[in-house]
Amino acid sequence: MSLDHRLTAEHEELRRTVEAFAHDVVAPKIGDFYERHEFPYEIVREMGRMGLFGLPFPEEYGGMGGDYLALGIALEELARVDSSVAITLEAGVSLGAMPVFRFGTEEQKRQWLPRLCSGEALGAFGLTEPDCGSDAGGTRTTAVLDAAAGEWVLNGSKCFITNSGTDITELVTVTAVTGRKENGAPRISAIIVPSGTPGFTVAAPYSKVGWNASDTRELSFSDVRVPAANLLGEEGRGYAQFLRILDEGRIAISALSTGLAQGCVDESVKYAAQRHAFGRPIGANQAIQFKIADMETRAHMARVGWRDAASRLLAGEPFKKEAAIAKLYSSTVAVDNAREATQIHGGYGFMNEYPVARMWRDSKILEIGEGTSEVQRMLIARELGLPA
Ligand SMILES: Cc1cc2nc3c(=O)[nH]c(=O)nc-3n(C[C@H](O)[C@H](O)[C@H](O)COP(=O)(O)OP(=O)(O)OC[C@H]3O[C@@H](n4cnc5c(N)ncnc54)[C@H](O)[C@@H]3O)c2cc1C
Repeated sequence: MSLDHRLTAEHEELRRTVEAFAHDVVAPKIGDFYERHEFPYEIVREMGRMGLFGLPFPEEYGGMGGDYLALGIALEELARVDSSVAITLEAGVSLGAMPVFRFGTEEQKRQWLPRLCSGEALGAFGLTEPDCGSDAGGTRTTAVLDAAAGEWVLNGSKCFITNSGTDITELVTVTAVTGRKENGAPRISAIIVPSGTPGFTVAAPYSKVGWNASDTRELSFSDVRVPAANLLGEEGRGYAQFLRILDEGRIAISALSTGLAQGCVDESVKYAAQRHAFGRPIGANQAIQFKIADMETRAHMARVGWRDAASRLLAGEPFKKEAAIAKLYSSTVAVDNAREATQIHGGYGFMNEYPVARMWRDSKILEIGEGTSEVQRMLIARELGLPA
């Protein structure tokens, strides 16, 4: 067993490159996009040119030949500065491209992955519906095979879908009920719906508390026809496939959460040194020092958690429980650190021009998206063999 969680020279180089990009390119511009609730196309294009959207995919599909650890490193460094761009990358890779890579036919991979890996196109993942989120097995969207036409006909709706309505979104992979098992349980399948297919409507972006420079929309499907060949993976296995995708995605969200938690430390250390009260820097007070020391401790342990889960994934070992633990812990500490960082900034922390205000607004969703904290606890309890 290897206990070394330090990065290789190659991973460290990636980390430094993304760190510099986040500080030099993202930090100066993102506040304005966020204020305007605008998707930052120019930044996303640049991320594409750097190869970030192709990080964990093989070169033959246009990827960088890296791994999930590389993706986590990039997400952590981006989220230290801004979570909207980080979630755009996370959803583009883990939810948009990964299902095609894991479950697609050779033809589907060659059709979709090169553009998704280059960042010229974005993919989305439509699981959640207005009446079911945590209980995603309750999917109501249906897909009926019109055998004569060789097409699936989809009806239903999805909500809160990241990256689903940008100018560069080219596909949404959707879960839909395609039949019933003998016991009456639904057979859920995954089907690729290209953007612009007639009957596929993308609503205006939601007005959100945070992630304001990321794209989130409600989708509806009214007799949407796509080729039968757009089935992704096996018919009736779509739910199981998505659960596998979510297990991996939790590692990515955990890395992103760790980045936000660390960004709160970065901002607090700077501010505590420069802000004076009662004739000395506020950071000279032990109360502030202890607060920041606790924040750093939490960010460090969150990092150990996601890297542990990632190393198990890369070793081909079971990682479901560790991914759930990492996601639960890191999202909790992201919220804790954001609250404390805002407190350290006093009134300025409540002003949107300060990055900690954005971090505070962006932290809460981390306890909700890609499985709520309660769902993570359910998964951990199940892995411990507690009664169902
Ligand atoms: C900004 C944003 C982006 C998102 N992006 C995507 C995306 O790209 N693709 C996608 O498919 N989805 C996406 N989602 C949806 C997200 O994954 C769901 O919101 C989340 O899984 C929770 O589902 P829900 O909102 O339906 O809450 P519900 O499932 O209705 O849960 C409500 C509350 O009840 C709790 N609860 C539910 N069941 C239990 C139980 N058995 N025991 C204890 N507590 C329980 C939950 O933990 C939660 O606190 C996004 C959401 C947001 C807000």
